[in-house]
Amino acid sequence: MRFGLMAACAMAICVPSGTAQDKKGQEKETPLWAESWEEAVKEATIRNVCILYHIHGDGAQKIQEMVDDVRKGSYVQASKAFVNVIVNQNNGHGEETVTVDGQEVRRCKRYGGIPCDSHVKMWESISKTGAVQGDNAQIMIPQVWILGPGGSLIEAKNSNGGNVIPSSDVLKDAMQIMQKLGGEHMSYDKWLQMSAARGEWKRAWEKGDWKKAMAAALTLKKSSSKILRIEGEQGLNKMSDKGDELLSQAHSLLSSNPEEGKKLYKKIAEEFKPLSASRKAAEALAAIK
Ligand SMILES: [Zn+2]
Repeated sequence: MRFGLMAACAMAICVPSGTAQDKKGQEKETPLWAESWEEAVKEATIRNVCILYHIHGDGAQKIQEMVDDVRKGSYVQASKAFVNVIVNQNNGHGEETVTVDGQEVRRCKRYGGIPCDSHVKMWESISKTGAVQGDNAQIMIPQVWILGPGGSLIEAKNSNGGNVIPSSDVLKDAMQIMQKLGGEHMSYDKWLQMSAARGEWKRAWEKGDWKKAMAAALTLKKSSSKILRIEGEQGLNKMSDKGDELLSQAHSLLSSNPEEGKKLYKKIAEEFKPLSASRKAAEALAAIK
């Protein structure tokens, strides 16, 4: 499916594209742009929050004003309640290399936070929002779409002749829509905690660090997100199977190497709480003594 762009500005007010310029005294921060459509929908679904889907182009002064608007600290903070997406087919913004978590990554100079490739590729997701039908549809820019957690269009805020769409209006409408959708909405800070728990679970499970794996699975099990609760439950089931497997090993060791057998029982008793394997290991130890 191919889409065309209709620039909403009159040619007279179009100016060449370029890097966003800092305004004196204005904090220049980076919105948390999603790296890909799949990541955006995944995060929004787990958090049960709306996606703010910004569709830009280059060349219009009005759009540049919108870029400046969303890169203010006030927007960056408030928009964390949602997932943010930027769509721009152009990649000529220039890039800079920054270090994130010890790794050098490329960042678009106009939007920050992502490389130009990300906002160019995001264009392909337009058809997935259900907002446009048929081939060669024309899309007016700029627009900001408020999408539901699953990525479907709920409200389109059009530029109406190329006017700036204030980010404060977008945030207000998105919040009202989200309240109507109902359910619990996960804050960004909580999302970071949950993401850390998911990473911790994976690392600890692979390393056989049962105590940390157990803590991570229990954290996920208590999440407000059903998806994460299921992940936590699955983790606990795996831990339960692993605990039973180690109990058998400890039992076998008792006859060949009693000290090692006791050591393993002790480990299971300490690291598999509150699973039944922990209780059984403690009982086995008590019976030996
Ligand atoms: Zn760019």
